[in-house]
Amino acid sequence: MTATVIDGKAFAASVRAQVAAHVARLKDENGITPGLAVVLVGEDPASQVYVRNKGVQTHEAGMNSFEHKLSVDTSEADLLALIATLNADPAVHGILVQLPLPKHLDSDLVINSIDPAKDVDGFHISNVGLLGTGQKSMVPCTPLGCLMMLRDHHGSLAGMNAVVVGRSNIVGKPMAQLLLGDSCTVTIAHSRTKDLAEVCRRADILVAAVGRPEMITGDMVKPGATVIDVGINRIEKDGKVRLVGDVHYESAAAVAGAITPVPGGVGPMTIACLLANTLTACCRANGLAEPEGLTA
Ligand code: NDP
Repeated sequence: MTATVIDGKAFAASVRAQVAAHVARLKDENGITPGLAVVLVGEDPASQVYVRNKGVQTHEAGMNSFEHKLSVDTSEADLLALIATLNADPAVHGILVQLPLPKHLDSDLVINSIDPAKDVDGFHISNVGLLGTGQKSMVPCTPLGCLMMLRDHHGSLAGMNAVVVGRSNIVGKPMAQLLLGDSCTVTIAHSRTKDLAEVCRRADILVAAVGRPEMITGDMVKPGATVIDVGINRIEKDGKVRLVGDVHYESAAAVAGAITPVPGGVGPMTIACLLANTLTACCRANGLAEPEGLTA
């Protein structure tokens, strides 16, 4: 079997187009422009690239982008004061603090100071609790993107066996909650899981969010399964730096029914879902109907 490739790049473009169309209607009919504030502390090169991309795509969707670049030695008090200002600003519907923060700043404290209604990353403890209890929340962007791709590919996910490898707060755990919300039978695997290959082979849906290059190989995949590769790893091969996922693509694609590539799979969906979340937050803040198909 050769797997169907789930084209995250094309799907993300269609999500961004839906967001842009909705934003245009909001402007025309309600005179409202959604706004996303991104806060970057320090000069981590990867974070700078992410923030720049977010700004460009926010503008392209017709939204306002507010970038706050703070020096690496910014005090916690100053950062919290900025977040309080953004919380109170009616032109700001979404706030994202780029992680990781410099070590002297308490990430949990900072994230939990964001107004949960503006927490477009879905990391605030209130949103974590709302998601865990099946209530309306802001959903973390990467797992939301994975869910959208799975729903698009399968329609209903009810009754499917899903295995999520990885239990981080930003990917693994919310991914498992979302799959449970769609009535999958969910297993979460991690570094202490016994016989990981056997656990993975039970999956109709296998999500890899591990951070280990090409760790999930074809012999760990059930024939016909859908494989979602969240991993982004830079490795050196033949003297060149290459981007690979947590899944060994060639061997897994030979067994799976469908698979996301790296790059061009989950990655582009993350920013698309950030835009979708900002739009959702704006609609909720203004008591307007939420965009269909862009939330969990
Ligand atoms: P974390 O390092 O926070 O979590 C990794 C998880 O994998 C942990 O739960 C860990 O288990 C588990 N794990 C590690 N080694 C093994 C192993 N040998 N067998 C089974 N499980 C193992 O990573 P993240 O969740 O933040 O990210 C995961 C990957 O996704 C990374 O490659 C990251 O770059 C990528 N990513 C991609 C995004 C995108 O936009 N596409 C966004 C966010 C992340 P334990 O808890 O027991 O230690």
